[in-house]
Amino acid sequence: MPAKGAQVDVIVGGGVVGLSVAWRLAREGRQVTVVDPAPGRGASYAAAGMLAPVSEVTYTEAPLLRLGVASLRRWPAFAAELTEDAGLAGPGTNVGAAPGAAAELAGPRLGAGAGLAGDGAAGGDALALDLRSDGTLDVAFGADDLAALDELAAFMDKLGLPVERLTGRECRRLEPMLAPSVRGGLLAPGDAWVDPRRVTAALLAALERLGAEVVRARVTELLREGGRVTGVRLATPEPYGTGPGGGAGDGGGHGEVRPGAKAETRAGARTGARKETGAETRAEIRAERVVLTAGAWSGELAEVPVRPVKGQIMRLRSPQPLLTRCVRGTVHGSSVYLVPRGDGELVVGATQEELGFDTRVTAGGLYELLRDARELVPGVTELEVADVVAGLRPGTPDNLPVIGPSGTPGLTFATGHHRGGVLLAPLTTAILLGEEGELAALCSPERFQGIS
Ligand SMILES: Cc1cc2nc3c(=O)[nH]c(=O)nc-3n(C[C@H](O)[C@H](O)[C@H](O)COP(=O)(O)OP(=O)(O)OC[C@H]3O[C@@H](n4cnc5c(N)ncnc54)[C@H](O)[C@@H]3O)c2cc1C
Repeated sequence: MPAKGAQVDVIVGGGVVGLSVAWRLAREGRQVTVVDPAPGRGASYAAAGMLAPVSEVTYTEAPLLRLGVASLRRWPAFAAELTEDAGLAGPGTNVGAAPGAAAELAGPRLGAGAGLAGDGAAGGDALALDLRSDGTLDVAFGADDLAALDELAAFMDKLGLPVERLTGRECRRLEPMLAPSVRGGLLAPGDAWVDPRRVTAALLAALERLGAEVVRARVTELLREGGRVTGVRLATPEPYGTGPGGGAGDGGGHGEVRPGAKAETRAGARTGARKETGAETRAEIRAERVVLTAGAWSGELAEVPVRPVKGQIMRLRSPQPLLTRCVRGTVHGSSVYLVPRGDGELVVGATQEELGFDTRVTAGGLYELLRDARELVPGVTELEVADVVAGLRPGTPDNLPVIGPSGTPGLTFATGHHRGGVLLAPLTTAILLGEEGELAALCSPERFQGIS
């Protein structure tokens, strides 16, 4: 147990949000423990990683747009600092250097052959996370779609956000694999994207290097004493050693958390020195502050209005890149997007389903994604299927995240990031560190009466 008086934060949930918060707090010199049965395997594992506040916007979501634009601005510095702390930046380094669990999470493609070695001096930090900023191209097929793009372009113009209206031919000049039926498009040149699995792997690596602790266990409840939250209770611990990425991490790549996942601990280590925590037998962890970052599951531990919004998504493997930038469009009334990865994968997403905690990948979901993606880029049907996943977005009633102190002393929320947790991770940490007063007000838990 930490020494009395130490500034201890327990972060409940190690997705992109929880790990980002933990990393920033550890950087600030706080003593940090992340508790999660399967860090990085929630919605963050499923996410496409679009950092696209402009092309994601709808007319009713102006506050979300402000948050997204502010967070996108923070991404380059966030990525640079993260890759440095994770040991991935600089000449002669590559992502394969990520320690055990982190490398496992990121997957084999991050090892040799990923084309990252030695490119640190030339922006290797961005490449390590596959952070790219070639923009998003929103395409249209029919007169209605074109009219909608015109309206969107006018709206963006009013907001001073750069977008460019293109003809069908101009779209195909940018992306030759687009279908001949594409009649026009809107280019948001500032939009970017990143590989979220690389980000969570890098965050875990950075936490290990900073000596933070990651306890692989499920929190069953928040400890409350005298009207304040004082720590967390863990699911019945089992002996250490269920293997890297154990527990829910083995869930067939479906990005789901099995509620009874085994408790496992990994003591934080700096330059290989293992920190003994005795957490193998711990049933509780005391904290000065508990930060609830359990994504779609947050409502199981505190009264916060977060619900699961299911998203199915697939990754296709392409010998030659089909696209150079994100492409999206509306087909059969639903939105579909394609995101190219640096290693040749093409991500096709995503369904939006209100089905509770259901993470089954269904034939119907995959059929719709492929059917719609083929309308945009006919060549997708030739590609090999690499991976299919269903994740649970943490949705809120107003689609804005819930970030800041709760009504209960000792408990802080950083949850409810819905469709934009990867985009909003840098801003979320900035809000919690008090760097973003005005935007913090938009995310304040106070807007929901009586949550604690
Ligand atoms: C298909 C899909 C595509 C998406 N695409 C994008 C995109 O392009 N761009 C973007 O910005 N966002 C995207 N999102 C949204 C993004 O994935 C989420 O907003 C983000 O991952 C939320 O992060 P999180 O850390 O809050 O939640 P999660 O990543 O879900 O992490 C929550 C963690 O809490 C843990 N947990 C749960 N209960 C407990 C407990 N009791 N005790 C301990 N730990 C617990 C879980 O194991 C999990 O690891 C997408 C989501 C989906 C599903």
